[in-house]
Amino acid sequence: MGIPEIFACNVFNEDVMKKTLSPDIFKKLLKTVDEGAELDITVAQEVANAMKDWAIEKGATHYTHWFQPMTGITAEKHDSFISTKNGKIIMEFSGKELIKGESDASSFPNGGIRATFEARGYTAWDPTSYAFIKDKTLCIPTAFFSYSGEALDKKTPLLRSLDYLNKQAVKVLNLLGNKDVKSIKVNVGAEQEYFLIDKETANKRKDLLYTGRTLFGAKPPKGQELEDHYYGTIKPKVKAFMEDLNQALWQLGILAKTEHNEVAPSQHELAPIYSTVNIATDNNQLTMELLKKVADKHGLICLLHEKPFAGVNGSGKHNNWSISTDTGVNLFSPGETPGENLQFLVFLMAVIKAVHKYQELYRLSVASAGNDHRLGANEAPPSILSIFVGDDLISALDAIIKNEDVYHVHKTVMELGAKILPKLPKDTTDRNRTSPLAFTGNKFEFRMVGSNDSIADCNVVLNTTVAEVLSEFAILLENSTNIPNTVYKIVSTTIKENGAILFNGNSYSKEWVEEAEKRGLANLRTTPEACDAYTLDKNVALFEKSGVITSSELKARQHIMFENYSRIINVEALTMAEMAKKDIYPAVNKYISKLIHTAERKERVGADSQIDLAVAKKLSVLNVNIYKKAEKLTSLLEKAVKITDAKVLAFYYKDKIIPCMKSLRAFADQAEIYTPDTLWPFPTYGQLLFSVR
Ligand code: ADP
Ligand code: MG
Repeated sequence: MGIPEIFACNVFNEDVMKKTLSPDIFKKLLKTVDEGAELDITVAQEVANAMKDWAIEKGATHYTHWFQPMTGITAEKHDSFISTKNGKIIMEFSGKELIKGESDASSFPNGGIRATFEARGYTAWDPTSYAFIKDKTLCIPTAFFSYSGEALDKKTPLLRSLDYLNKQAVKVLNLLGNKDVKSIKVNVGAEQEYFLIDKETANKRKDLLYTGRTLFGAKPPKGQELEDHYYGTIKPKVKAFMEDLNQALWQLGILAKTEHNEVAPSQHELAPIYSTVNIATDNNQLTMELLKKVADKHGLICLLHEKPFAGVNGSGKHNNWSISTDTGVNLFSPGETPGENLQFLVFLMAVIKAVHKYQELYRLSVASAGNDHRLGANEAPPSILSIFVGDDLISALDAIIKNEDVYHVHKTVMELGAKILPKLPKDTTDRNRTSPLAFTGNKFEFRMVGSNDSIADCNVVLNTTVAEVLSEFAILLENSTNIPNTVYKIVSTTIKENGAILFNGNSYSKEWVEEAEKRGLANLRTTPEACDAYTLDKNVALFEKSGVITSSELKARQHIMFENYSRIINVEALTMAEMAKKDIYPAVNKYISKLIHTAERKERVGADSQIDLAVAKKLSVLNVNIYKKAEKLTSLLEKAVKITDAKVLAFYYKDKIIPCMKSLRAFADQAEIYTPDTLWPFPTYGQLLFSVR
């Protein structure tokens, strides 16, 4: 079958709805999807029926409310359609079952929201994301919340943030005279990086098995230095995997478009065509799931960890974000003369101010134990926020600022002023690859996101903070007697007060870290530090006011983040200690004794045994240190158990456990260099990175 035939064949999308629903119900459902109108049960009943018939025809036997708890992965609980009526088996699925489901909230992270006596959680149908069939199961995208209505997932705040942005953006557009606009859309395209490793080789390493990254490993003779992998020819085994993956993604209506090799050996990237943010988020979750599943079928494992290998590029996810109107206009399209494009200027300023004012939230939205290894590691943006807008745009803005007074004096001169501004050729805006948040012609590309992250978090922050600034601008526009003048005033004030966030230089450089500090920009290097900033007054106020995250939800979320961080490091540290004591130490000892035996025999015949003895000595010293550090790690972990406060514990892992892990690793990696591959207890970096042929 050709791509058009299989594309979205497993998705209950608008086409299918149109075919299977009565015109009246179809119209009502679209009203809910497009305008957020409340859904009535008669609609749900008919939709449920149509969904069920469609799914059964496609071979589905079960349905599930598919949701995204705070674990960052998706969850599903399957129910079959089977029901009995008058002693006969029938296939049934009611409107009630479509709209709402019940599940046990206590098994998912809830950050203390759930009182122990009320463990119930609920799932509610999100009609703005299509239902789909996966593994013979009709999956219904849902939001997940507690008995008392508090969000326990990533989708709910995302939907709320869209509401808020929609409201503020439409208000501003109307004030700017664009009265036709009734609603806006947020468009997102998430480029996904990942590693593919031969399964048999990877399975020999406990660290990959338990933690998804390598905890030990000396640098191989060949890494990414030759830069021969980026855009290189794709190996047949990988090609076969990609073909299968594409089929699976297309069937789910995921617009997988480009695929290529990345910088590091065994690293690849997949980019879909953008869609609305809610769908893009669901689709990215599905993509991550399918990457792993399809890899497994091909004798590979897919690593989504942000830094699976030290010293080799890590994996990120580029979140391309833009806003468009229901009239089809991209609000970030500068047009021929950006300086004249009031709409563009207002929305651009909103992003600049939002990122400057809420830097910590942007950092926080990508904070994870895994991403801490990647951010600032010379191949990824640092943990400092900045925006790249390109030189042309900067000069356009400068011209506006310089002419500010002129605009005030002459009401018509703004047109004149604008004419002298340079035209903005699209491709000059995309040169800087080091910026955490780059304006790339008609969208913003947020590059700090980790490969394993759900993109819900960063989009909640983008939507909410930009909406908040738009609400401030709306007040100025409401009170304005001359809209163009007010817009130019907004431009000059915003740049004056928030220009520190603009940086067009190399964000990977050391100089930038110093410069950023001088500019007073936040540099939250680690997840616990970022997490701590979650409850800054301005953040609590922002989320409360916008209705995106209540203050109790926010505290719970912070708690979950601290907890997740500690748990991840805990598993890593335990794995390290075990590998060091049970695998590395005995293996190195074995080689030491071999060396000594050899030396003794050599001495018997008068041969030179100096090297054997020297290596044996060197390795003995290293091995003692390996064991001691592993013991130290174990005792530090035992102390951690006594810490009950989530924040204190997270900082303990960061300040005490991680440094100990680092020094243990340093000794082990040294020992690896002197030990033959045949005696080393697990595959080396070289064997892993070049395992797929
Ligand atoms: P690159 O970042 O490699 O230069 P592109 O700029 O072509 O690649 O696209 C990267 C991603 O951005 C793709 O997923 C694409 O669909 C998405 N994208 C393109 N235009 C927009 C837009 N207006 N809004 C959101 N995403 C977009
Ligand atoms: Mg990109």
